[in-house]
Amino acid sequence: MSNPTQADVLIIGGGIMGASTAFFLRQRGVSVILLERWLVGQQASGVNFGNVRRQGRFLSQLPLANRAHRVWLRLPELLGEDAELVRAGHLRCAYGQEGADRMEVYAREARDYGLNLELLSTAAMRSRYPFLGPEVIAGSLSAEDGHANPRLAAPAFGRAAARAGAHIHENTEVKSLSKDGVDFRAVCADGREFTAPVMLVSSGAWGAKMSAQFNEPVPLVVRGPQMAVTEPMPYIVGPSIGVAATTLEETLYFRQVKRGNIVMGGCGRSNSTTEPRTAPVLPEHTLTQFKQMARLAPVVTKLNIIRVWSGVEGYMPDDLPVMGPSATTPGLHYAFGFCGAGFQIGPGVGETMAELIATGATDTPIAPFSIARYATPAQAPVAQAAA
Ligand SMILES: Cc1cc2nc3c(=O)[nH]c(=O)nc-3n(C[C@H](O)[C@H](O)[C@H](O)COP(=O)(O)OP(=O)(O)OC[C@H]3O[C@@H](n4cnc5c(N)ncnc54)[C@H](O)[C@@H]3O)c2cc1C
Repeated sequence: MSNPTQADVLIIGGGIMGASTAFFLRQRGVSVILLERWLVGQQASGVNFGNVRRQGRFLSQLPLANRAHRVWLRLPELLGEDAELVRAGHLRCAYGQEGADRMEVYAREARDYGLNLELLSTAAMRSRYPFLGPEVIAGSLSAEDGHANPRLAAPAFGRAAARAGAHIHENTEVKSLSKDGVDFRAVCADGREFTAPVMLVSSGAWGAKMSAQFNEPVPLVVRGPQMAVTEPMPYIVGPSIGVAATTLEETLYFRQVKRGNIVMGGCGRSNSTTEPRTAPVLPEHTLTQFKQMARLAPVVTKLNIIRVWSGVEGYMPDDLPVMGPSATTPGLHYAFGFCGAGFQIGPGVGETMAELIATGATDTPIAPFSIARYATPAQAPVAQAAA
């Protein structure tokens, strides 16, 4: 079987962004080499909470989120594999009138983007979700959202991309990137070199180091959102549920898997690092989660936690990703820094980036995510960049 070192497109990083882009590029007949340092979907894409929600996103992200939603619905048909998508809805809860008012404004604005939210009164919340605490006074339900199994989604894209002819190299760490003449060159830790005239940097929290090599530094910080899972209880929850809060401490979210376990996240993020890759689990965040759970869904606090974890994720100061073409280097594209919210939009990012790379344009608005928003006057387009 041929194992080329040259392709139309070189993808650096096999999370959900890189793997889905590889898949959709192959759908368009574009040849692809994807280089992944560890295993496809092993980092943020494989350890996240699993929220497949459009509700609560910045309005500027909703067209991309809607595109992703359409892909999520077609996953089994497209990939021949399921990622345990459960379309049980996404419910946001408000503790006070101010939170309820904010949800109402968001629901009005989101309607213009095709996202229909059902606002629920206190009485409706009590009767539909009797397990919620008395402080919850209102809710907003996005009936078509839901949750999926993060362990399955990115690897499924990777396998489908490979079946469609993408060359996926796992356990392949890229040590340096450069552009000489027309081609990008990735030199790997094992000495292998791969080249292509077009390159996508989709290396998650590691993306900023790579963009800096092309004279495009961005102020990405690395954080570890924290998760916990309990022992199972009878299945009662249905939607994934979160608090529409203005402080991180109050921002708890949870869901119940069909087996009965409760997965929860939020309330704090650790300072994680990319070299070495560590996202520590801080006991104080677990305790805060349980304190907040006592307000949101007291029934859960009777359960034992059986596992806690975190993951390495990149955050931008404006909470928006870096996505689209480079502003300095022709042929270079980015999709990284998804700020704790990239799982749902991942398949939409892949489809959009593949369209952009293959055709030079996309109707999905991505201008707000351009890396050029961090450009300084000193940054001029470069034809060559050394790693
Ligand atoms: C704990 C946690 C909970 C979250 N919960 C949610 C949620 O519920 N809903 C939601 O929408 N989002 C959630 N997110 C965010 C979401 O998981 C991420 O935004 C998304 O997975 C990012 O995907 P990615 O492909 O950009 O990055 P990653 O999945 O991190 O993939 C990047 C890949 O690049 C590879 N790489 C890096 N450097 C190199 C190199 N030098 N050579 C080769 N490969 C390299 C890495 O090994 C990695 O596999 C959560 C994130 C975390 C960490």
